[in-house]
Amino acid sequence: MDAIRGMMAFIDAAPTAFHAVEQVAKRLEDAGYERLEERAAWRIAPGGRYFVTRNRSSLIAFRVPECGFKPFQIVASHGDSPCFKLKPNADRAAQGLALLNVEKYGGMLMSTWLDRPLSVAGRLVVEGPRGLETRLVDVDRDVAIIPNVPIHFNRAANDGVAWNAQVDMLPVIGEEGADILAIVAECAGVEKEKIAGGDLFLYNRDRASLVGANSEFVSAPRLDDLACAYASLEALLAARPSKHIDMLCLFDNEEVGSGSKQGAGSTLLAEVMRRVALALGAAPQALEAAVAGSFLVSADNAHAVHPNHPDKYDEQNRVHMNGGVVVKSNANQKYTSDGLSAAVFEGVCRRAGVPTQRFSNRSDVVGGSTLGSILSGHASMNAVDIGLAQLAMHSARETMGARDEAYMIDALRAFYECEIEVEGDGTVTME
Ligand code: ZN
Repeated sequence: MDAIRGMMAFIDAAPTAFHAVEQVAKRLEDAGYERLEERAAWRIAPGGRYFVTRNRSSLIAFRVPECGFKPFQIVASHGDSPCFKLKPNADRAAQGLALLNVEKYGGMLMSTWLDRPLSVAGRLVVEGPRGLETRLVDVDRDVAIIPNVPIHFNRAANDGVAWNAQVDMLPVIGEEGADILAIVAECAGVEKEKIAGGDLFLYNRDRASLVGANSEFVSAPRLDDLACAYASLEALLAARPSKHIDMLCLFDNEEVGSGSKQGAGSTLLAEVMRRVALALGAAPQALEAAVAGSFLVSADNAHAVHPNHPDKYDEQNRVHMNGGVVVKSNANQKYTSDGLSAAVFEGVCRRAGVPTQRFSNRSDVVGGSTLGSILSGHASMNAVDIGLAQLAMHSARETMGARDEAYMIDALRAFYECEIEVEGDGTVTME
């Protein structure tokens, strides 16, 4: 119960990727992790624990073993979720009401954002005494709503509707004259005139809750992928020290292709690995040798079989909520798992007493992709794609198994504690 309650509180406090990173950073600092700055030289010692953030929306944490520079065992997840982002010049007026001009961030189920209380959060850039400053902001009250057109004027509304984000998805924030920057400025404790810029997003105000006859499910916004992000944090903090470098990655911008300076497609992971090697005085070629012996777990949620539409899922590879950790495979390498990496990870789970299940898409369905294959282009190592089975992926409110979060924490903790050695001929030892 601790696992799921902890995850629910984490999600409630993380309306944006910025806030997710802030929470993880705070937990790490409380646990004795030292914050490193990308712009400074790093001093790293054997036995030390560190983390670094980029853009305040991506984070990498790592723990060095007493024996110094060694291969990495990495868990990567993402902190962003599909939502709507405020455009520049966001305020607009229509029919005596104040609206916001927003655009899609990622591929959400648009209809799920209609007729529910929303709020605004993100990062502000403000003029301070020393220059521009950034600060996080969360309006943290019901401030916006995107109203449907009544059925009387849209008789086809139950027969499938094509939503147009430019027309249908603009939220109302009050009567004419309401001003989002004034609202945000008040929340942030700054004068509106001092706001020089920002990255502000709409978010669903729903709190996470347990659902079902026996509270066997959890329903919450942003389960994809904060469920995995929270599990990786708990696993890292709980794992006993190992003989490799334990690493946690939390990336922004997965939902829009990972192509930003802080996304999984950026230089962030490769640069952190290189700097760790340099700062620990690793010998020439030690980094390349270590990466070749490293192992990446890409943790991003998976599609639980929908009870009303089981035909949309491959018959032999359907996964179920509360069925344990999902190992995902795809011949076209949308997922990084291969025969070897999947078997290794399932072995880790078996030792930890965690059930696993296999997911593969129908051959005539093009599924989504995730972090693993993008990271593989920048830091290539043995990798597996996993996740937790959830319904309604990319809805404003998603559903997963309440028992699965503890399974994921146990599995990732066992992964961090296990010494995985993959040799060039494909021989694997696990201690
Ligand atoms: Zn995801």
